Amino acid sequence: MKAAAPQLNKATRSGTFSTKENLSPMSHESPLIAILVIGLALAFLLATLANRLKISLLVGYLLAGIAVGPSTPGFVADQGLALQLAEIGVILLMFGVGLHFSVKDLLAVRAVAVPGALIQIALAALLGTGLGWMLGWPLGAASVFGLALSVASTVVLLRSLQERRLMDTHRGHIAVGWLVIQDLVTVLALVLLPVVAPLLKDDGSSVLNLPQLGITIAITLGKAAAFVVLMLVVGRRLIPAVLHYVAHTGSRELFRLAVLAVALSVAFVASELFGVSFALGAFVAGMVLSESQLSQRAADETLPLRDAFAVLFFISVGMLFDPAVLVNEPLPLLGTLAVVLVGTPTAAFLTLRALGQTRVAALTIAAGLAQVGEFSFILAALGIELGLLDGRARDLILGASILSILLNPVLFFAVNRLKPWTDRADGVVPAPQDSSDVPVAAVAPVRVEHPTTALEGHVVLVGCGRVGGLVADGLLRSGRKLLVIEAGDAIVQPLRDRGTEVLLGNAADLGLLASANLAGARLLLVAIPDAFEAGQIVQQARAANPGIEIVARAHFDAEVAHLGQLGADAVVMGEREIARAMLEYAARGDAHTGIDPGEVPRMAIADR
Ligand code: AMP
Repeated sequence: MKAAAPQLNKATRSGTFSTKENLSPMSHESPLIAILVIGLALAFLLATLANRLKISLLVGYLLAGIAVGPSTPGFVADQGLALQLAEIGVILLMFGVGLHFSVKDLLAVRAVAVPGALIQIALAALLGTGLGWMLGWPLGAASVFGLALSVASTVVLLRSLQERRLMDTHRGHIAVGWLVIQDLVTVLALVLLPVVAPLLKDDGSSVLNLPQLGITIAITLGKAAAFVVLMLVVGRRLIPAVLHYVAHTGSRELFRLAVLAVALSVAFVASELFGVSFALGAFVAGMVLSESQLSQRAADETLPLRDAFAVLFFISVGMLFDPAVLVNEPLPLLGTLAVVLVGTPTAAFLTLRALGQTRVAALTIAAGLAQVGEFSFILAALGIELGLLDGRARDLILGASILSILLNPVLFFAVNRLKPWTDRADGVVPAPQDSSDVPVAAVAPVRVEHPTTALEGHVVLVGCGRVGGLVADGLLRSGRKLLVIEAGDAIVQPLRDRGTEVLLGNAADLGLLASANLAGARLLLVAIPDAFEAGQIVQQARAANPGIEIVARAHFDAEVAHLGQLGADAVVMGEREIARAMLEYAARGDAHTGIDPGEVPRMAIADR
């Protein structure tokens, strides 16, 4: 963020975050390498431990951040660098979201997202201001504090949506539209705060310069609009053209580089020339690409980098946290947390209901918004810079941030528990099962109950995409009893319309698998491309029914072996089948070619 980055850097450089004595020579000379190596390695160790203890990986990342932060002894990573790396994470994340989002999708949710986000921000900011006032702060300080508490973290919300596979749902679209509005409001607040700061300081000598305020608002919104128009007119043609050209060179390496260069440079130009945040710039860049066929490939190429940088985001949040605030300010911290965890979601829920959204949509979005992160830090840093806020307010915001991020999955869990009730109240015929709100990264391991299918002697098919779709067609034509487990919202309804029983959600979720009645099933077909997830499913299925026949899908020899070890009876490797089909084609109609497609073994039969 153009306006924000310098403020943040100043805040971090000014000694607010002091460094410790015993820094290694390496960390002095190469702070970037130090933070990447030590930060990521610690995050890996602690997240592995968290995984072992069946708690959220985020706990591991945040603890790693606290460990390399200035409040704990030992190595202190460079905070300014951590924040910049986190910003790259935000760019890649928002670019990825944009890739799944068309301009049409965004316009479709504007009637809810625009008024909804504005009302929610106003209500939450009022609550925060009230709390600041109760803490005895002047109105200026209290209102900046309130504003900082009213905007959620993009990274945390997007991760929640992605983990629960909600990104492509109506609720997910509203949430993303909501984020865009919050982003714009933050940008506006950052440019307006310096203008209104003298007035907010309340020394009685300043009067509001209304014309200047109007001009600043007009310029900020005008620049943002100019950026969007430029992207929609020029970017929409230029970016896909560049990527198409690169795709045709056949170099995967060059394509990856092109995707990364486009995402980062559009975000940078958006921020440098148009004063738009990095996140918003990257989102628009992704969106103009979403209409091109290359978008899926582009999304896949940025995935690994995106995940690594998202971890760095959480490390940077952990670094800012000073655990002393828990002891020194327990009650104000509790109040701040209440605004974030209760005030904001209540405001969002009521607003969404008033705008005609279903209870389940309103509750899901409200739960997603119940946390604060990067935008709040940036606003707080600017407030301090302008002499409006003091360190105490910042500590409360940082404390509330880390705690709200940790507690956020619990709210999603609560939403899921309320689902039977909300469905009934919404008048929705409850889908047989929907595990899309399962808190994958919940603080505590959570099991969600699903009613078990009545089917017996049936075939369970996991994944109904390019492979599973054909399999389902064949099975249905032959009149088999079929139960499909599929994670994609859009695929489920057509299947249900054909009378097929479908469980919506991630098949690796134990509760969901249990309701497929594997114990009574005859055959399990795992037709998903990810062998890690498939492995989990195979293992759990084998444990549930030692006698069931399991056939899985793979793309590499190592995956065939992996799935076989975990209990698959047969593993079909896509690439081998393609090779066979090509050989069959080559041998077609000529008995003397000497080509025998049978040389490529049809199925890798697992050796259990
Ligand atoms: P394709 O690669 O085109 O055959 O598509 C794979 C299908 O499997 C997609 O429709 C995904 O939504 C679905 N899928 C992938 N992973 C899972 C999972 N863990 N549980 C259920 N469905 C999945």
